[in-house]
Amino acid sequence: MYENEDSAPVRYDLLVVGSANADLVIGVDRRPAPGETVLGSDLAVHPGGKGANQAVAAARLGARTALLARVGDDAHGRLLLESQQDAGVETGGVLVGGAPTGVALITVDPSGDNSIVVSPGANARLTPEDIKAAGPLFRAARVVSVQLEVPLETVAEAARSLAPGSRLVLNPSPPAPLPEDVLTACDPLVVNEHEARYILGILGDTAGPAPEDWTRTLLTHGPRSVVVTLGAAGALVADGRTADCVRVPSPEVDAVDTTGAGDAFTAALAWRLGLGEDLAAAAAFAVRVGAAAVTGQGAQASFPTAAEVAAL
Ligand code: ADP
Repeated sequence: MYENEDSAPVRYDLLVVGSANADLVIGVDRRPAPGETVLGSDLAVHPGGKGANQAVAAARLGARTALLARVGDDAHGRLLLESQQDAGVETGGVLVGGAPTGVALITVDPSGDNSIVVSPGANARLTPEDIKAAGPLFRAARVVSVQLEVPLETVAEAARSLAPGSRLVLNPSPPAPLPEDVLTACDPLVVNEHEARYILGILGDTAGPAPEDWTRTLLTHGPRSVVVTLGAAGALVADGRTADCVRVPSPEVDAVDTTGAGDAFTAALAWRLGLGEDLAAAAAFAVRVGAAAVTGQGAQASFPTAAEVAAL
């Protein structure tokens, strides 16, 4: 057992604070036009949501992981709790009730294009008070990872609740304007290309600056460090303490389904940073986890074990 700086025992490598959704997926020949009804395949129900995905990804790699989330008192909530527990996630922090479990209604056509409607449900009821009531979890975690599928004020409270010596990893997805105190707490801010462009205000500007330039510019927005993921091209990392910008290539793999790749990457990165690795070393591991995740179908079902990452 090791100790945090405030001498609370550290029991978790990673605390994930975020969403848990049931993904309801129907395959269709053609996605319906307005007013149209189409027949589709049998319904498939998968555990998802960025918070739940990250927690499963970390635990499957061997990280001691806890999840702070809210689900409904319903069958989808039970499915989500079960998938967390199967992966070895500590679920004592998962609150139950207040609204139905969040769902994503997904129609996907043969080309892989999809249309998605999300009902945040219980995720929207994860409140700052819920965060305040989870002090022991925060004190027991060396890294706290958050995303934006729960209310922004809840994310801000999580950033304020970090124990001394713990670090915050934020993936601002779906992108939204971030308060300065949240941005400056990030170490790192983890963004994909779309999220980077949103924060920089250059959405649609495809001829804009090179990713190395975005990464350095993102640092000037206040985070202590920045990681930009670039799909098959890997990731860029920049640490405000050195201002170095390092490119970390991803292994070449046959990509089957990229769903959840960013969640697997971020979970792996957060875990390794908590173990004391520097940003480039943690990202070098995380790109392997992201690459492994794209070789399988689905999100949580595709997340690798440490042995599978080593074999890549
Ligand atoms: P997001 O899923 O958030 O859009 P990315 O597409 O950038 O994020 O993927 C996250 C990480 O997953 C990448 O940094 C990379 O390591 C890995 N990855 C994604 N797509 C591929 C791919 N086609 N080949 C290899 N690795 C990939």
